[in-house]
Amino acid sequence: MNAIEKNLQNIKTTIPEGVTLVAVSKTKPIDELLKAYNAGQRVFGENKIQEMAEKWEHMPKDIEWHMIGHVQTNKVKYMAPFVSLIHAVDSIKLLKEINKQAKKHDRVINCLLQIKIAKEESKFGLSATDATNLLSSEELKDFSNINIQGLMGMATFTDNQEQIRNEFNIIKKLFDQLKPKYAEFKILSIGMSGDYETAIHSGSTMVRIGSSIFGARNYN
Ligand SMILES: *Cc1c(COP(=O)(O)O)cnc(C)c1O
Repeated sequence: MNAIEKNLQNIKTTIPEGVTLVAVSKTKPIDELLKAYNAGQRVFGENKIQEMAEKWEHMPKDIEWHMIGHVQTNKVKYMAPFVSLIHAVDSIKLLKEINKQAKKHDRVINCLLQIKIAKEESKFGLSATDATNLLSSEELKDFSNINIQGLMGMATFTDNQEQIRNEFNIIKKLFDQLKPKYAEFKILSIGMSGDYETAIHSGSTMVRIGSSIFGARNYN
């Protein structure tokens, strides 16, 4: 058994039924992704649109591709034919473009709203108020080719589990407020290699795990 297969197997024993595992394969070559695929993994996450499109071309077609990174409006067209979930939507302008590109391909594209829960300036995302306003905006009602299925968040990069738990609880609370109002709301995407067990305790339904499956990333 190769290391990737072993890692996947170990992680799966710690993830309850009902929580989806997104294998975050950014920067990793196709042959590594194929090891995960051959071990049964079918959901992959990437943070760069062009890299994801290239991998989509070369990989088996029964994979669900998730865009987990920040999305530039002018690049939506490159993933519109195939992307299955866009995690980090943070504006009505971006939703408008996703809707437009989805329509061209006669598809409905699933999206999550990214909520800023971390204290770090560098992190993207909407405040709870902005997300609530966006969801009730009139403009959104015309977008028939998108489906907003829930929320995504990233905790502060810290060893302080207490702080991470507090941040996850903020997004969980918002999720619970919105869920009864929006029938399609079912996904709470929180948790990465370092904090996914905390995220699951806080009510995560989707974890995005990279380095614990594929090993540390090398950005050179
Ligand atoms: C890279 C990335 C992950 C995975 O990070 P790991 O710590 O390697 O598990 C999860 N979510 C997002 C948004 C990422 O960019």
